[in-house]
Amino acid sequence: MKFISFLSCLLFLASCSGQTNKVANAASTDTNERATVTADLTQYKYDPPAVEGEVIPFDTTSAYWKAELNDQEFNVLREDGTERSFTGDLWDNKRAGIYTCRGCGLPLYSSDTKFKSGTGWPSFYEPIHPNYIKEDVDNRYGMRRVEVSCARCGGHQGHVFPDGPEPTGLRHCINSVSLDFVPVEDL
Ligand code: FE
Repeated sequence: MKFISFLSCLLFLASCSGQTNKVANAASTDTNERATVTADLTQYKYDPPAVEGEVIPFDTTSAYWKAELNDQEFNVLREDGTERSFTGDLWDNKRAGIYTCRGCGLPLYSSDTKFKSGTGWPSFYEPIHPNYIKEDVDNRYGMRRVEVSCARCGGHQGHVFPDGPEPTGLRHCINSVSLDFVPVEDL
């Protein structure tokens, strides 16, 4: 049974990385597919950017997170899991607003940088501030990927790939369950 789970996991991950070229093509030829943004989000002030090396300490014990998160959120945020594509509630969200860390509320992404990747996961070409995320090399499952976590609570968000649209050419492929969405009218 464990072997079957491992195999399905591998197939799932292979299908994720296999979308690379498709995403790159979609991104380069279909810029009109960007998320619909009608508000200028730059007018809103967020917490001051964390200074590198001075990330706010946060409780990272399992007991704390078991109480804070549901089972799927715990699996993704604290055990580096991945939600199945097209199952989250934010991959197709086109509203204007801010995406905050489900674990600690740090604002991580803006709808200004969200784009349609075709992967079934929320995709952004850059974070709100580079110091709000942490990047680490992830060599699991025989692949070299760059993992993205919340810089404050360490919650796993997803991975970043070099096949996104301009201006950065990056695709932050993020789990819906790692994020909360705050619409612009509530900011
Ligand atoms: Fe966080």
